[in-house]
Amino acid sequence: MIPLSAPDIIESDIEAVAQVLRSQRLSLGPVAEAFEHAMAQYSGVAHGVAVSSGTAGLHLCIRSLNIGKDDEVLVPSFSFIAVANAVRYEGATPIFVDIDPGTLNLDPEKLEAAITPRTRAIIVVHTFGFPADMDPILDIARRHHLTLIEDACEAIGAEYKGRKAGSFGDVAVFAFYPNKQITTGEGGMVVTRDAVLATRIRALRNQGRYPSDDWFQHTELGYNYRISEINCVLGLEQLKRIDSILQMREAVARNYSQSLAGNPHLILPPTDPPHRRISWFVYVLRLNGSFTREHRDEILQRLTRLGIGCGRYFAPIHLQPAYASWRTPPSLPVTEHCADRTIALPFYNRLAENEIQQVCDALTNLLDRISSGRP
Ligand SMILES: *Cc1c(COP(=O)(O)O)cnc(C)c1O
Repeated sequence: MIPLSAPDIIESDIEAVAQVLRSQRLSLGPVAEAFEHAMAQYSGVAHGVAVSSGTAGLHLCIRSLNIGKDDEVLVPSFSFIAVANAVRYEGATPIFVDIDPGTLNLDPEKLEAAITPRTRAIIVVHTFGFPADMDPILDIARRHHLTLIEDACEAIGAEYKGRKAGSFGDVAVFAFYPNKQITTGEGGMVVTRDAVLATRIRALRNQGRYPSDDWFQHTELGYNYRISEINCVLGLEQLKRIDSILQMREAVARNYSQSLAGNPHLILPPTDPPHRRISWFVYVLRLNGSFTREHRDEILQRLTRLGIGCGRYFAPIHLQPAYASWRTPPSLPVTEHCADRTIALPFYNRLAENEIQQVCDALTNLLDRISSGRP
């Protein structure tokens, strides 16, 4: 069995977690603070607020910016559902915008065309760790007075023109679920340059308590979106090795791309895009246009039967049952075309070269069989 993803937990991570347990301080302590500082510094912004998940972080962004009923927020549909859900939690409307087929990120031209008098913000996602086209997107946000929320949940350490993901938005969110580049088990981090916004997000995370409030005083309606010291110490330890983690992941991605290069049935992810450093979250390739969604699903099924973990990244949000009665389905031809043909292959730090070869051989065989009509 080769899994789709695997967290990279080493002995020193386990020892650090044990140490926190021995310390008796399990929440709202020095480790969370240290993790916040480290993430803010790594991203190149002033403030970090650790939260219980990336989704909680996105929700607090929307909430702290007073985005609500009658407001529209531009989001990709080719993404994880939390991106649009965070907008709906506050009664605002996610407006789905189509993507660029080369980068799988928001298409700036389509973004600008989707702006209405109700538009308040853009959530830009660095899909699969590939930095979005930030120059035109920042320009659109500035000209139309829109707030830019950066979803960097898949992109820790990614760079665009030498600047880190998480430093472009008015506010940005990272996530640390076990399949991400670094993990806290469950967890997330909001980062921002804006001290006022950071204070509000910190209060909203902790039942609406501001620094001047005592434990039973709640200035505004808040949530329990706190994250334990146990989780944070794992994140802090993993962040210490982020450079080597990103290098290992890049090596795996390059290995896949070399093994699969020249296969006429496949569109591989770009590995050396200009002005960008990719932070590899997953390795997702695409079948070319002569294959259908049914072909793709059959390939996923057969790979699974061979013990090879794989997945469809992503199922478009606007086609989810949870969005069925939400609004008239938008026209997102690129999103739908790509989403029908994507295949995520096993991808994690310590995926061995012979395992990569095994996956590539299995995929190549299946493609040959299907394209020549053999069973
Ligand atoms: C992982 C992820 C999130 C947050 O996920 P959580 O499971 O809530 O931590 C948000 N947006 C994107 C694009 C993601 O990939």
